[in-house]
Parts: sequence; structure tokens; C-alpha cells
Amino acid sequence: MSKQILVTGGTGYIGSHTVVELQKEGFDVVIVDNLSNSRIEVLDNIEKITGIRPAFEQFDLAERDKTDAFFQKYPNIEAIIHFAAHKAVGESVGKPLMYYRNNLVSLMNLLECMKKYDVANMVFSSSCTVYGQPATLPVTESTPRQEAESPYGNTKAICEDIMRDFCKATDSLNCIALRYFNPIGAHESGLIGEFPVGIPNNLVPFITQTAAGLRDELKIFGDDYNTADGTAIRDYINVVDLSKAHVVAINRLLNNKNKKNYEYFNVGTGNGYSVMQLVKTFIEVTGVQLKYQVVERRTGDIEKIYADTSIANNELGWHAEKSLEETLATAWNWEKNVRNID
Ligand code: UDP
Repeated sequence: MSKQILVTGGTGYIGSHTVVELQKEGFDVVIVDNLSNSRIEVLDNIEKITGIRPAFEQFDLAERDKTDAFFQKYPNIEAIIHFAAHKAVGESVGKPLMYYRNNLVSLMNLLECMKKYDVANMVFSSSCTVYGQPATLPVTESTPRQEAESPYGNTKAICEDIMRDFCKATDSLNCIALRYFNPIGAHESGLIGEFPVGIPNNLVPFITQTAAGLRDELKIFGDDYNTADGTAIRDYINVVDLSKAHVVAINRLLNNKNKKNYEYFNVGTGNGYSVMQLVKTFIEVTGVQLKYQVVERRTGDIEKIYADTSIANNELGWHAEKSLEETLATAWNWEKNVRNID
């Protein structure tokens, strides 16, 4: 019988791509999502890609009774991938309690249920935001974490600590935190992708929406950083490559290959690209003109960050495969599909 995996936030951006990769590997997926930042139609599109409609339960994991009732209804869950969380940096500054309550309580409810219902394994969505601006690059897993720039970032650091401490106290539990760099792109089918509500905060959705005519121009936040062209540098990771890292992490846990019962890995490409390089590559790959203007730096942005991926590569046996060019083409393909552009 195929192994049953709970994917929280499974109708969201990274969640939906991970559901597809899990189903392709033969896992039986159950999604829990409250649809606060995603759409139910994603289930149809997952089914179009894989031929399998995942089971779906709509509720809020911050509600303890509902979370408990879920595990009674699904007694065969073997592992959890926990994506469901608020993730807008700017919003978290204005509504810190909303972020702390949602992101921390939902994790604690899940961990409690894991103990109660004997679910041993969890993969958690963390972020390179926990490193802040590192003194040396690339960032390894032993690079020290720094105080978070935002309540959102702090929830990721605190959630990591909660898992670490609960794993220490609970031998039967196994958790892996994946620290994502900058996930971009979409599934090659163009059926699932990133669907931001309102004005996008992230660079690539802003670029594709500008190219599609929804926004007048891209604002490049600062060209006076200490980088070759003055714009900030990030490690942009293809969302399907990132999703595959989750499948690898789940198999590591299910096959008892983990070395400790709490582990964490950087998931990036190892390459840093500047905002200007990304914009120019997008124009080259798509042939679409993009209006842009350099403006002031955005508050809280760091100058440059990219991953040392050797531990993920050697220990997990996972590698990022897709080039920036291919990835930006998939982002544009998705935007065109969503906006009905030929
Ligand atoms: N960025 C930009 N214009 C935008 C959005 C982002 O110049 O409209 C820059 C941002 O300053 C950063 C990079 O693009 O240097 C990536 O930003 P994003 O918000 O996608 O990710 P994060 O800041 O979390 O790394």
C-alpha cells in the first residue's frame, strides 16, 4: 500500500508543486489548507498533471480540536510536510501577533498530534531568512543564525527551535527543516504556479505581472549595494527542484536514513544572481520588453546571500537541476496561462 503523507498548505505555491512530485513517486497525499492564500481550483490542476486528485480537508491548523479530529479521521498518515503558514514579510511587521499565533500554534498543534497519534516524521518549511546578512558567503548550515528582520522571519527561527527542543524530548520523533533560498518559477505544464493575492512583494511575480501588463513598471530596489552591478544578490531556486528536495527528505525519514532526529539543510542552487541579471535574463529568455526603474533600497533587505549546497548535495543526494533561463521561462509560461496571453 502506498504511504500516506499529509501536506499542510498543499494548495499553496510550493505545497502544490510538492504534492505533484509526491504523487509521481507513488505517495498517497492528503492536503490540509484553510485556503487563506490559495484557491480550491489548484486541486483540479494537480489532478490534470498527475491524474490523481489528492484528498482535501479545509480547516485551520491553529484550531487544536479540528487538528486532533483530522488525525482521528486519517489514522494512517506516516509523515507530514508542513508548509501552511503566513509568509508576507511586510504584513508581519504590522500584524505580528497574527503571525506568531498562526505560525507557532499550528506547528505546536501538529507536533502534539504527532506524539499522540504516533506520526513519527515531519519536514518543515524554513527559510534562509534565519541567517540574516551573513558575514561570509556562501552560507553553510553552520553559519550562525542572526536575529530576524521581521516577525515572519522570527516565526521561522522559533519554529526551528520548537522542533529541535521537541525532538530532543521525544526520541520517537524525526524532523527535517529545509531552509529555502528564493523559490521561483512554475510547473512546466503551466497549470500550477505562484498566485500572489494583490500586489506581489516578490521579484519574479512582479516581473511577470509587469510583462503581462498588470503593473506599469518594475521598481528595482537599490543599485548602490556592494555587488558588481550594484543590485542585490539572491540564490533563486526552481520550485520543482525545491519540491523534489521535500520528497528526498521524506524518503530519508521514512527509511530511517537521518543521522539525528532533528536535522536542517540549505536548499538553494549555490549561485548568486543580481536583480539586474535576473531582469536581463528574463528579457532575453522571453523576448518580452520590461519597463523598469531603479528606486531606493527596500527597508530590511540584505545585500547578498547564496547557499553552500554541499551538505544537501552529499548528505541528501539532492541537486538543483534547472537553469535560471529554464526557470524564468516557466514563470512566464504560467503567467501567460493565468492571464490568457498567447
Ligand atoms: N526586488 C526588487 N523589486 C521588487 C521586488 C524585489 O528590486 O519589486 C528585489 C529585492 O530588493 C531583493 C530581490 O529582488 O533584492 C529579491 O526580493 P524578494 O522579495 O523576491 O525576496 P527576498 O527579499 O525575500 O530575498
